[in-house]
Amino acid sequence: MTQQLNGKVALVTGASQGLGKQFAETLASAGATVVVASRRREPLEAVATEIASQGGTAYVVELDVTDVESIGSAIDGAIEQAGRIDILVNNAGLTVNRLIRDVTPEDFDLVVGTNLRGAFFVAQQVGAHMSERGDGKIINLSSILADFVMPGVSVYCMTKTAISQMTSAMALEWARKNIQVNALAPGFVDTEINAEFFDSPAGQQIMGRFPGQALQQPESLDSTLLFLASAASDHTTGRTFRVDDGQALGAFQGARSRPPPDEARK
Ligand code: NAD
Repeated sequence: MTQQLNGKVALVTGASQGLGKQFAETLASAGATVVVASRRREPLEAVATEIASQGGTAYVVELDVTDVESIGSAIDGAIEQAGRIDILVNNAGLTVNRLIRDVTPEDFDLVVGTNLRGAFFVAQQVGAHMSERGDGKIINLSSILADFVMPGVSVYCMTKTAISQMTSAMALEWARKNIQVNALAPGFVDTEINAEFFDSPAGQQIMGRFPGQALQQPESLDSTLLFLASAASDHTTGRTFRVDDGQALGAFQGARSRPPPDEARK
């Protein structure tokens, strides 16, 4: 991998596992100093050690994105250790798998509080720091489910659609500060968030409709991540980039465009 991010500092939220861990390792192998952030220190220390063993530099900060005070101290801690933040990967997120009739106010607040409110205030505070410096890249995590819906993940889908709008709004307000804000919208990737569902019959059925008949691998997002984190995207802002191995074409658009059985018989 080329060292296109030499001298840059990246903060990755939700970096203890899954996509966040992959993003942190990819940015480090492209030369960035990485600050890994999440709620529990122990798994973050393991990610930082792994990055260091590959010759990279990584620092750890504890962060709960549902708590605005915690966001402030994590950002201060990141800047104290690494000097500044040039790149934010606003990745921490979760879902609660429940049909609409069963969603509780607590479920709603947890998913919105993490995926939307949390992402907003992390970007707001890092954006303020980047605005002072007149430079920065913010990459928000959207999803294939920003554009499509599935039973059981209504609130998650709503937050991801909102992330795309949040991305455009931030891009507009911060364009004059030379901050590019874009969103990465993966398909269904082989991580913890999906483990249970894709083992179920409903999950297996959907996976059977993906062109590759498999979950996406985390490293399939590397090239788009590096584009959005590097000078290559200096003139690209406010966009959501779906990178999904064509899953949407098979699982959603194909099904939708197929004529209903009655019409097919005419
Ligand atoms: P994951 O469950 O493996 O990891 C989520 C990370 O977020 C963990 O590190 C977790 O500790 C952290 N996190 C959760 N709540 C937090 C909080 N309050 N404060 C700080 N950190 C918190 O999930 P993943 O698959 O790696 O997902 C990462 C992001 O990518 C999420 O925003 C998710 O919505 C998005 N995404 C994932 C997929 C997929 O298929 N895996 C697809 C599209 C988008």
